[in-house]
Formats: sequence, C-alpha cells, structure tokens
Amino acid sequence: MSEKTDLKKLEEEITSLKKTIEILHETESGLLKENNELKEIKKYFDVLMQNTEDYILICDSNGIPRAFNSSYKTVVENLLGIKMEPGVQPFEISDKAKARGYWESLQKRAINGEKFTAEFNDDEREGYFETIFCPVKEGDKVTGFTEITRNITEHKKVKKALEEANSFSSNLLEKAPIAILVSDPNTSIMYVNSLFEKLTGFTKEEAHGVKIPYPWWVDDPNYDSVEETKKIILKSSIRAERRYRKKNGEYSWVEVNTMPIYQNGELSYILAMWIDISERKKAEQENIVLQEKLHRSQTMESLGLLAGGVAHDLNNVLAGIVSYPDLLLSGLPADSKLKMPLETIKEAGDRATAIVQDLLTIARGVATEKSNMDINNLVYDYLRSPECEKLQQYHPGVAINTCLDNSLLNVKGSYIHLRKALMNLVSNASEAIEDEGNITISTKNCFLEAPLKENPEIKPGEYIVLSVADEGVGISTEDLKRIFEPFFTKKVMGRSGTGLGLAVVWNVMREHNGYVNVESEKKGTTFELYFPASREALSTQDLEITIEDIKGNGQKILIVDDVEGQRHICGQILEKLGYRVHTAASGEEAVEYLKHTAVDLVLLDMLMDPGINGLETFERIIKIHPHQKAALISGYAATDEVKRAQGLGAGALIKKPVTIKNLGIAVKEELEKK
Ligand code: ADP
Ligand code: MG
Repeated sequence: MSEKTDLKKLEEEITSLKKTIEILHETESGLLKENNELKEIKKYFDVLMQNTEDYILICDSNGIPRAFNSSYKTVVENLLGIKMEPGVQPFEISDKAKARGYWESLQKRAINGEKFTAEFNDDEREGYFETIFCPVKEGDKVTGFTEITRNITEHKKVKKALEEANSFSSNLLEKAPIAILVSDPNTSIMYVNSLFEKLTGFTKEEAHGVKIPYPWWVDDPNYDSVEETKKIILKSSIRAERRYRKKNGEYSWVEVNTMPIYQNGELSYILAMWIDISERKKAEQENIVLQEKLHRSQTMESLGLLAGGVAHDLNNVLAGIVSYPDLLLSGLPADSKLKMPLETIKEAGDRATAIVQDLLTIARGVATEKSNMDINNLVYDYLRSPECEKLQQYHPGVAINTCLDNSLLNVKGSYIHLRKALMNLVSNASEAIEDEGNITISTKNCFLEAPLKENPEIKPGEYIVLSVADEGVGISTEDLKRIFEPFFTKKVMGRSGTGLGLAVVWNVMREHNGYVNVESEKKGTTFELYFPASREALSTQDLEITIEDIKGNGQKILIVDDVEGQRHICGQILEKLGYRVHTAASGEEAVEYLKHTAVDLVLLDMLMDPGINGLETFERIIKIHPHQKAALISGYAATDEVKRAQGLGAGALIKKPVTIKNLGIAVKEELEKK
C-alpha cells in the first residue's frame, strides 16, 4: 500500500466517523428535545391535575389507580384512612366494604366501555357529588377509565332555590287575586292563571297559543280596533275598562292593565292583568236605570200636574153640559122630540167627562176614597160588565182567561180607579192581539223581602199582584220607557188611543202606594200591578140605588160655591130631590148667613176664589154651629185639605161634575148620619 492510498482511506474513515458522530449528535439532541417536550406536557398535566378542585382518578383496566390528583388523594386518604399510592387499589387496604361495593360496580361499567354520570350524597362531608366515568380506549380496546368527581352541593342549593323561587312565583301567579295573562310579542298566549280561567271559563289549555283577537274579545265600536289595540299594547301600558264575553256567552266587565315587558332591550312578554269590576258595573248600570226611572216619574209628575190643571178648568166647563141634560131629561115627557138631542149632548158630555176624569186621575192630589176590597171581585165584576162585553165583541179572536188566587188578601183601594186601571190594561191587551190570542188575568199574594231595587219607595211587606198577560205584539224597548207618559200613544188618536190609559194605571198605582211592573217580548206583554195588602175585613159593597131611594123631605141646605152655574145646578138637583135650598157665593157670605140661621146641611165647595176656601169656611162655621153637618164638593182638591175638613166633622166629598146620583146619595147619607 502506498502512503497516499492509506491516507485516502484514513480520510474516508474520518469522514465516515465524522458523519457517525454527527448522526449521534443529532440523535442526542432529538432525544433531548423529545424529553424536554415530554417534561413540558407532564408539567401541564400536573398543573391541570392539581389546579382543579375536582377529584381526578385514572385507573387501568383492572381498576387499579394509575394516576390521581392531590384533591383525590387527600379526600380518599381522609375518608378511608389509608395512604394512597399509584398501583394500589385503595379498597383492598381499607375496611369500608359498603363504599367499595358502590364504587366497584360503577367502575365495572366504565371498564365495560360505558360513559356515564353518577350522583351521590355524602353524609360525612354533608354534600352532593357527581362523578363522570369515562373509559380510556386504544382502538377498540378499553385500557382503563377516568373518574372525575365534583362537589355539586352549591350548585344543588342554587338549583333548589331557583326551583323554589319558580314555584313560589308561579304559585303567586296562580293564587293572585287578579286574573293574569302572559303572551309573547306576537300576542300569542303563553300562560293564564286560575282566576283567568274562572273569569272567562276558558281553560289554560284552551287559552294557550291563541292570538288577538282572543275568544273573549268583544268587538265594540267604543273600543279601538283589534289592530290598534295590538299596536298599543306592544308599545305601552294600557289601563281600560273592557267588556268581555265568557265561554258560556255571558258578558262581564274587567279593568284591564297591560304592560309590555322588556328584557335586554327587547320586547319579550306582554303581561295583562284583569280586575273583576262586574259588581261595580252592575251597580253603575242599575244606578243609570234608577236615574232614568226617577227622571221618568218626574216627567210624569209634571205632565200630570199640567193635565190636572187643564182638567180642573175643563171640568167646570163640562159641568153645564153634563148636568143640565140630566135635569132637563128628568122633566120631559117620554115622547118629547127633545129627548134624542138631549141624550146625544149628555152622551158627548159623558165621554168628555170620562177623559177629564182620566186627566184628573193622573193629576196629583186627587181625592180618592179608598175602601177595603177584594180584587178578585173587581175582576169578576169587570168581566161581567157591559164595557167588557163590548170589548170582546170588538175583538172576537181574543179569549180572556182568569187565574185567580182564592186566598187573596184584600186591598185598600178606590174601586172605581182600580176598575179603570184593569179596564185599560185589558183593552190595551186586546188591541195588541192582532187576530187571535189569549189574555190571562191573574191574582196572587206575594211578599216582598226587601225594598225594590228599581223602586226603593216600595217597602217590604205583603202585596197582592194583579196581572194582565197578553199574547200580543209586544212593546219595543224604546217605547217601554214612554208608555206611561200621558198622551203617549201609537194608536190612532180618537179611535181607541188617547194615550191616557197607562198614565191612569201608573197614577192609580202611585195613589195606592203600589207599583207597576212590565215585561214585554215579541210573544206578548205582562203588566203586573202590586198593591200593599190589607188585613182589614171587607166593607159591604155599594148597592144599586134608584132616585126614589135618595129623595129628601124638605131639609134645608146651604150651597156655598163661587161659581154661579155650580150653585144653580146643585140647587136645581136638590130642589128636585125635595130639599129646601139657600145659596151663598162665598165662604164669608155663608158664615154671615149662618150667624142668624140654622141649616140641616152645608154643601161646601172646597176651592173658592176670591175669599176664604172651603176648609177655612168650615172652621168658621163650626165656631157658630159646632155640630154643623156638611158635605164637601170639589173637582180637584188637595187631599189633606179635604181630610182636615173631614177631621173637623165635615162629611163625604162629592166629586164634580155633580149628578143627581152622586149628589143625592152623599146628601142623603150625610143627613141620615147620627
Ligand atoms: P192608548 O191605548 O190610548 O194608546 P195607553 O196609555 O193605554 O194609550 O198605551 C200607550 C201605548 O202603549 C199604546 O199605544 C201601545 O203602543 C202601548 N201598549 C200598551 N199596552 C200594550 C200591550 N199590552 N201590548 C202592546 N203594546 C201596548
Ligand atoms: Mg189604552
């Protein structure tokens, strides 16, 4: 070998060695690097393990602990009283057999590949814990599992408190004394409380999910439209009184308060609260009805006053027309040509008198004589009367039935007025029936427990009810408010309608401290007259009397009246009946006359103008003749004036216009009084 060759070989070896060294260097630094990286990972792992309060355990597939953090170590060592070391099964060296069974069964599930969470409470540590078991896999093979336990005591407490708070608030909503509705921003209902269910009749389930307009929505022109309401409730709070419809169709009232509720600047709910105001509304409406009634009765009162005033004047005018034919007729031979025209005048006068009598009946303060009577008799009498017969001829399709209570209590009433009231009701009923139909007149006793709401002056107590029910056309709600007004009529004025019929009924009832109740629908109308019942025994009924029965025999009578015509008529009648008559044109004149003359009876007009009136005249007369007999006469007199005169000893009141009969009976009765 040459030196040169050797050198070359050597150089080659050195190069290869250098390379080997380089490789070795590289490997070493690689290993070093890897080692460093591992160290770093271990560091992070340790940080993770130790920086958590969770108890972490890693086991192999035999359940032998391979790694755990200090939290785990501490707690297990404390609980089991052992020293915890990797590779040692802690239960093997502890005597806590019960705990061992629990844990081993869970660990077995993890070893079988199940990932799950178990919760337990620990009496010793007074707390709740949650353990997550998670198998560790290499490919399909389970090589162990992790077991991470966390103390959830606080969490549990918060959860429980939250649950409690929730149930508290839903309890609160449920038990609240107001109805509550919660809807989402689309007005779709999310919740209603029990009171809401109760008020509307709609259940929670039925309400859930429905949108405006809700089923209880009432479309009322007084309210905003559905769309408008929606806009408003989405923007601002509303407070309004609203009528709503219940599920059963009834209507009621609530005060509605709505409130949009925002969370984080966004509309999230609309809260609606309903306060039941049905009672208040009912009272308010009743009050309106009462006010209307009061107003109506005031109207009728003033109309009555007016009518009465007119009637009083008319009555005096009529006296001549009615009384003279009577007088003239009684003096005519049977075949006189004057008989017919005179009878016509008398009839016209009688009709006019009837109207004037109606007007006087509705005028306040008309003197009415009341006696104890049986309304059933009144009904029988009326049904047998010529008026009723005539009515039935006029309405052949109308059948009048009765349903009378035979234990009916009596009534203290004016026979004539009550008969007139009944007659008016029955003729109205007949006129309301177009072709055929029934009218039922019934009577019954009734006891009012409390004052009537719509008529508070009607006191509790015993009443009798006279009702007239028909199957006629009925009365519209509008007309119902006005039918009792004088001159309100829907009939042809003159034929059957004067509009006074019900005005008479109304006033008669008021004079009798009773009231009228009307119910009407398309199928017919019922008028009920309520009278205070009377327990007094019946007085003997009037008998039919002939002129012969009332003749006098020369007794002396002083007629006191300011109207010449009246003095004349009365004088004529009384002379015809066989009395001796003297007249005085004023109270003063009468008193002067009586100072030196005695008479058997003074016929005294109650209203005289000018000068002293009937009452004062009588007061002065009895100073002269303490037992002076007197009969009073008036067309329109204040009841209490008449009563005061009667209290002083004056006798019956004779109502103008006078006739042979009413004057004759009163005078005779007065004279015969002991
Ligand atoms: P008139 O009968 O003269 O019209 P009323 O005072 O008796 O006057 O009655 C007034 C109005 O009340 C009548 O015109 C009628 O419209 C109505 N009315 C009264 N009674 C009845 C009834 N039973 N059925 C229907 N409408 C009635
Ligand atoms: Mg009528």
